[in-house]
Amino acid sequence: MSWKYDVVVVGSGIAGPIIARNVAKAGYSVLLLDKKPAIGSPKQCAEGISIRVFDKYDIPYDKRFINREIYGAKLYSPGGYELELRYKEVSGVILERKVFDKMLAHYAARAGADVLARTEALDVIRQDGKIAGIRAKHEDEPVEIYADIIVAADGVESMIARKAGINTYAPPHEFDSSYEYEMLIEGFDPDLIHLWFGNEIAPRGYVWVFPKDEDRANVGIGIASDHPETAKYYLNKWLRENGIPSRKILEINVGVVPVGGFVKELVKDNVLVVGDAARQVNPMHGGGMAEAMEAGTIASKWIVKALEEENLSLLQNYTKEWWETDGKRLEKVLKVRRVTEKLTDEDLDLFIQILSGADAEKIASGDYAEVIKALLKHPKVLMSRRRLSLLKELL
Ligand SMILES: Cc1cc2nc3c(=O)[nH]c(=O)nc-3n(C[C@H](O)[C@H](O)[C@H](O)COP(=O)(O)OP(=O)(O)OC[C@H]3O[C@@H](n4cnc5c(N)ncnc54)[C@H](O)[C@@H]3O)c2cc1C
Repeated sequence: MSWKYDVVVVGSGIAGPIIARNVAKAGYSVLLLDKKPAIGSPKQCAEGISIRVFDKYDIPYDKRFINREIYGAKLYSPGGYELELRYKEVSGVILERKVFDKMLAHYAARAGADVLARTEALDVIRQDGKIAGIRAKHEDEPVEIYADIIVAADGVESMIARKAGINTYAPPHEFDSSYEYEMLIEGFDPDLIHLWFGNEIAPRGYVWVFPKDEDRANVGIGIASDHPETAKYYLNKWLRENGIPSRKILEINVGVVPVGGFVKELVKDNVLVVGDAARQVNPMHGGGMAEAMEAGTIASKWIVKALEEENLSLLQNYTKEWWETDGKRLEKVLKVRRVTEKLTDEDLDLFIQILSGADAEKIASGDYAEVIKALLKHPKVLMSRRRLSLLKELL
C-alpha cells in the first residue's frame, strides 16, 4: 500500500491532533496516525491542566472529558507546613485523557484530517537524500506514507525525529520517572490539587493527589530517573506513612517525564519534532500538555505558511519562534528547578512556612519575583549565606 499526503503527523496525543486540525482547516491534506488501538488509552498522565488552554487553543469546554474543576493548590513541606493557594474562580481542571485525546483527534477528523488508530510508524523513507515519508504498519499491513512534511509528535519515546537525523539526545538526569495510581482516596479537599515535597518523600520531585471525584484521584509521584530507588518504592512508602489504604487501585500508570534538555533544532529539512518528543515540558512540575499545544500551534502556523508559499525552508521559523517565546520561558523555569533541586528539607520547611505568611494573592498569581522577595525578607534566609546565594541565582 502507498498513500500520499501534504503532511503526515505521527502521534495522536496532544501536539499531533492540534497540528492535524490546524493544517486540515487551512485546506491541506493531512494524515494523523497513532499506534494505539484506542487513541488516548492507556493514559500516562495526572490529567491536570490550566483552564486557560480551552480558549487559547480553541478547544471546546466539553463536560465529557472534564472530571473535576479545580480552584487552586495546596503544598506540603516535609515537616508538615502547608501553603494553600485558593482562587475564587476555577483555575484548572482534571481531565479524562482517554476521552480528551480521542476528542482532539475527532476535532482533527472533523476539520478534514484523516485519522488512523492502530497505525505504527516504523521508519522514515529516504529518497534522493531527502525524507520522503514514513514506513508504517496499519493494522498489521505494511504501508508507505509519502508526504511533503513529516511531524514527529510521538511522545517521550520518539524515534521518528532521531531517524530523520534530529539530535534528540538528553542524559538520564533530564528525565523523571513517575508512578501513579488512580485510586479511591479520602480526606483531601477535592477542589484543590495537593503536592508534597521533601528529599525523603520524592527526591527532586513531588507526590501529587489530583482529584477526579470527591473520593477518587490520580495519586502519583515523579522522582529523578537516575535515583537508585524506584518511583513505585517512594509512592508506596508515602501511602504507608500516611495511612492511606493501598488496595483501592483502579488503574496503574508508569511513565517517563522529560524535565529539561529541550531539543535545540526542532526542524530538519521537512521534518519537525513537537511536544514531549522535543521535551517541550515544564521542567519544574513535569506538565507538558499546555506546552505541547503551544508548540503544536507554532509548528502548524509555519507548516501552513510553508505549504502556501511552497517554500519548505520557512519551517525553520518554528524553531526560531518557539525558542524566542515558550523556549525562553521554559529555560527560566529550568533555572528555577536547578535551584530547587539543591534545597534541603529544612529549606523546604522554612520556605513553605514563610510563604504561607506572605501575600498569598501575589504568590498565587505565580509571580516568581514576589516569591523570591518574600523569602529574601526573612531573617533565617538573610542569615544564611547558602540560602541567600541560592535565591540570588533566581533573580
Ligand atoms: C505520570 C505522568 C503524569 C503527567 N501529568 C501531567 C499533568 O497533570 N499535566 C500535564 O500537562 N502534563 C502531564 N504529563 C505530561 C503529559 O502527559 C505530556 O507532556 C503530554 O501528553 C505530551 O503530549 P504529546 O502530544 O507531546 O505526546 P503524547 O501525549 O505522549 O502522545 C504521543 C503519541 O504518539 C504515539 N506514538 C508513539 N510512537 C508512535 C509510533 N511509532 N507510531 C504511531 N504512534 C506513536 C503514542 O501512542 C501517543 O499516543 C504527565 C506525564 C506523566 C508520564
